[in-house]
Amino acid sequence: MSLTISDKAVLINAIRDIPDFPKPGIVFKDITTLLSDKDAFSLLMRHLHERYHSYNLTHIAGIDARGFIFGAALAQMLGVGFVPIRKKGKLPYTTVSEKYSLEYGVDEVEIHIDAFSGVDTPRVLLIDDLIATGGTAYAAANLITKVGAECVEACFIMGLDFLSGQSKLRDIVEVYTVIGVD
Ligand code: AMP
Repeated sequence: MSLTISDKAVLINAIRDIPDFPKPGIVFKDITTLLSDKDAFSLLMRHLHERYHSYNLTHIAGIDARGFIFGAALAQMLGVGFVPIRKKGKLPYTTVSEKYSLEYGVDEVEIHIDAFSGVDTPRVLLIDDLIATGGTAYAAANLITKVGAECVEACFIMGLDFLSGQSKLRDIVEVYTVIGVD
């Protein structure tokens, strides 16, 4: 099911803009209003299911924390496993980690070392709510490769098209954004 212009309008209108959060100058894209709107959430998940059901995925990897919501729902619909990629210090077992640069300083994401064990050739879809600079997703895609899986595509509900994150990420993985934001 590809999205019509009016479908996209439903999704865009279901996402709330919060100016100056978490700091001045940032417009935060709040997806809680989309999640609580059963018709918009269902439209989005049916679209993602339709796109990915023929990709022969074995897992969805979701980025901490909003990627968990869409990722876990989609994994259940597709009948595949779900793997969390978390901020440093949250995963309890042995991890592999990857640092990435922020505007000021560095951050770090982790994955369990055995996240895809038991599957010969894991084929993984990476998912998050939004791609801005792409640093988080770039590190997450590298983590998937580091633990021996193929990252087939990176999927975002929204892409901030005025930032260069998507083109940088496209150097290492296919990228799909449901909605582009100017
Ligand atoms: P980046 O690494 O710059 O691509 O940032 C992506 C991560 O930060 C994602 O996990 C997003 O949920 C979050 N994020 C960045 N900018 C925004 C924004 N304007 N609104 C909501 N979430 C954002």
